[in-house]
Amino acid sequence: MSITATATDVLAFDREHLWHPYTSMTEPAPVRLVTGAEGARLRLADGREVVDGMSSWWAAIHGYRHPTLDRAVTEQAGRFSHVMFGGLTHEPAVDLGRRLVEITPDGLDRVFLADSGSVAVEVALKMALQYQRGVGRPRRTRMLTVLGGYHGDTFDCMSVTDPVGGMHAMWRGLLPDQVFGERPPSDDAAPAEVDRWAVGFRALAAEHADELAALVVEPLLQGAGGMHPYPEACLRVFREVADEHGLLLVLDEIATGFGRTGHLFVSELVAPDILCVGKALTGGYLSLAAVLTTDAVARGISGSEAGVVMHGPTFMGNPLACAVASASIDLLLAGDWRGDVRRIGAALESGLAPLRGTPGVADVRTLGAVGVVQLDHPVDVAAATEAALGAGVWLRPFRDLVYAMPPYVIGDADLDRLVSGMGAAVAAG
Ligand SMILES: *Cc1c(COP(=O)(O)O)cnc(C)c1O
Repeated sequence: MSITATATDVLAFDREHLWHPYTSMTEPAPVRLVTGAEGARLRLADGREVVDGMSSWWAAIHGYRHPTLDRAVTEQAGRFSHVMFGGLTHEPAVDLGRRLVEITPDGLDRVFLADSGSVAVEVALKMALQYQRGVGRPRRTRMLTVLGGYHGDTFDCMSVTDPVGGMHAMWRGLLPDQVFGERPPSDDAAPAEVDRWAVGFRALAAEHADELAALVVEPLLQGAGGMHPYPEACLRVFREVADEHGLLLVLDEIATGFGRTGHLFVSELVAPDILCVGKALTGGYLSLAAVLTTDAVARGISGSEAGVVMHGPTFMGNPLACAVASASIDLLLAGDWRGDVRRIGAALESGLAPLRGTPGVADVRTLGAVGVVQLDHPVDVAAATEAALGAGVWLRPFRDLVYAMPPYVIGDADLDRLVSGMGAAVAAG
């Protein structure tokens, strides 16, 4: 009884006082109270234990309460939890820097530790602007991107996020005015369609080249802008366009990094000049992101009037976050993440296939350990969420999408349950 009373109290205060992501304070959508989490499961205050289909938004790749990650945090907390990074350094940051340089494509040797994904994108954009100034092209102040992208919620991040379909349409006119190309075709598009897209994109880049500093995209999979996988051929077009016109290629792998698409980083296919990682970097334990770039870009930045990267968050290089990030990377590389991603992808593909062509379903697609069901109407989020919970699964649909990217540690029985939960959400939503 007392647990129930406490839960009611907690939820009541939450409802009155706390904002949740993208929700109203006056008409808040319901939230569920989590009292524990372990492996691929969340425990709710009403006693239910549900399979987590979201990895807490791409982050918890090893699931919850992993003993190795728990230990990394507590051991570092026993030494020191934080010191400023201005004028000081520490082994957790250096150890993480070593690993990031090692596991990302050759040449990405300079590391900026940021405190969230959005800040990482801000830093990447700032680096691109400073680089262009440093190499004597100060008029290159705009960014080139494609429709359908998502790059975070701060203002410059919003400026490269899809202005219409994205979450930031209302800011048009207040944001820096960037150049948007057509969204790349879907990954099953015919070669002729890819060619048609490429011709248009190349023409747009050529038209604006003199004012463009960088090309900023999510590689291979657009995430929060619509869960849209696109062909590798488009990635190569991005690299060619950047090279042809002197733009830096910024790949935002905050969602795709650390194996989710079946590649450790999509950047292995096409190397960027600047790479942003975040989300799964700490295995979902703490907020941390990183921006990696090349020696050439670092030198260009040094040639700008400031001579330095003009950014330095208070919690830059937080030792707890760095320690758990290194532990998470080691755990990932020591295990069979490729096998897990393949296993999850196969289960999602076969489990969701029967939904193709059923009433209300516009498309079913999978990439790596991501499964997406696109409806032909906006999801009734409350009904879909409740139906998934009824089937023992936590999902967070948005727009017209019911999708999942579970922790890599999810077992086969829980995967079956996840697929059923998605089906229930689709039927109810
Ligand atoms: C989530 C996300 C971001 C923003 O990261 P935050 O940590 O939420 O600030 C940026 N880019 C992409 C591709 C993302 O998925």
